[in-house]
Amino acid sequence: MNVYADHAATTPMRACAKEAMLEALEDFGNPSSIHSAGRLAAMRMESARKEVAELLNCRPSEIYFTSGGTEADNWALRAAKYGTGDVVASAFEHHAIIHTLEAMERENARRAELVKPERDGIIDPERVRREVSQYTNLVTIMAANNEVGTIQPIEEIGREIRKAGGKSTVFHTDAVQAVGHIPVDVQKMGIDMLSLSAHKFGGPRGVGALYCRTGISLDPLLFGGGQERGHRPGTENTPGIVAMAVAMREACENMGRAAAKTRELRDRLIRRIREISGSYIHGSLEKRLPGNINCSFAGVEGEAVVIMLDLAGVCVSSGSACTSGTGEPSHALTAMGLSRRDAYGAIRITLAETNTEAEVDYIADQLAEIVRKLRG
Ligand code: PLP
Repeated sequence: MNVYADHAATTPMRACAKEAMLEALEDFGNPSSIHSAGRLAAMRMESARKEVAELLNCRPSEIYFTSGGTEADNWALRAAKYGTGDVVASAFEHHAIIHTLEAMERENARRAELVKPERDGIIDPERVRREVSQYTNLVTIMAANNEVGTIQPIEEIGREIRKAGGKSTVFHTDAVQAVGHIPVDVQKMGIDMLSLSAHKFGGPRGVGALYCRTGISLDPLLFGGGQERGHRPGTENTPGIVAMAVAMREACENMGRAAAKTRELRDRLIRRIREISGSYIHGSLEKRLPGNINCSFAGVEGEAVVIMLDLAGVCVSSGSACTSGTGEPSHALTAMGLSRRDAYGAIRITLAETNTEAEVDYIADQLAEIVRKLRG
């Protein structure tokens, strides 16, 4: 049996997104051209912008299309003109944030304070508040963690930042794993900037967006033409943008039903995993994305389990897709207080509503057998 259970790494494209993408590929005009083909492409792109803005509850003029989550994260951190003060981030951000902060520290000695998550993978808003001062220009805390799937109290964190920081403290959230899976409303949650990526909710890879609240002045990351109102040069990926908006609409509209089914499958698998002796599930089970299981088995290496599951036709990952293959234990799990050895043992299984009970049972059977063999 072949089972895809690595939806946090990427998702298959939704049929509606494929269809919209094909249509936009046929109408291949450059949205900057003033002729009718260009105007058609521009019109499609602007209605996609409206759609994305509506789903996040912001204005279309606050949405900038990017090449994905990594670019949106880099852009938010590097190019927002928020002065030269300190930055506060969580210690288990995606590498698109952590490595950008490291580069910024090397380049201009900007200090980045990293707030550790609690053992359950949740960031305590109070701990964020303690790090924020009037000299803090930027706080970036992810909406949901990509490895353990824990959902962060973004609204509360936003409130604490407002209390502790100056008026100019900007609150960015990397919502790449959250958008399309849990409700995200930038007004309600007090978010100033937000990154999202299409391929995490059934859109194509290589396209995403940055939301930037009106009033925050944003320098371009790249230099070139005047696209995206002079902020992001380069001919726009119209088919990708159109497909992203369609996928986002479907993901958000079906969110409740999809989450309920996915959660049921996940809990069925968790019950089976718990039957395996020496198994651990990492991170809060309540405040968690519907499809995520991050677990380990005493005395067993995560990478070995991933390879053996793959031989059995099951795709999962050890750590995030970006960390796996580096030989390093997950920085997210070690930040949560796991020892390096325990972190080495972790695997991430991420399900979607398209998985079935039979697939989940197959994963459980294979896992039990693989752990038994590896321990032997
Ligand atoms: N941020 C998070 C939380 C992610 O999970 C990912 C992708 O795994 C990214 C950023 C990067 O997004 P992209 O693959 O679109 O560059």
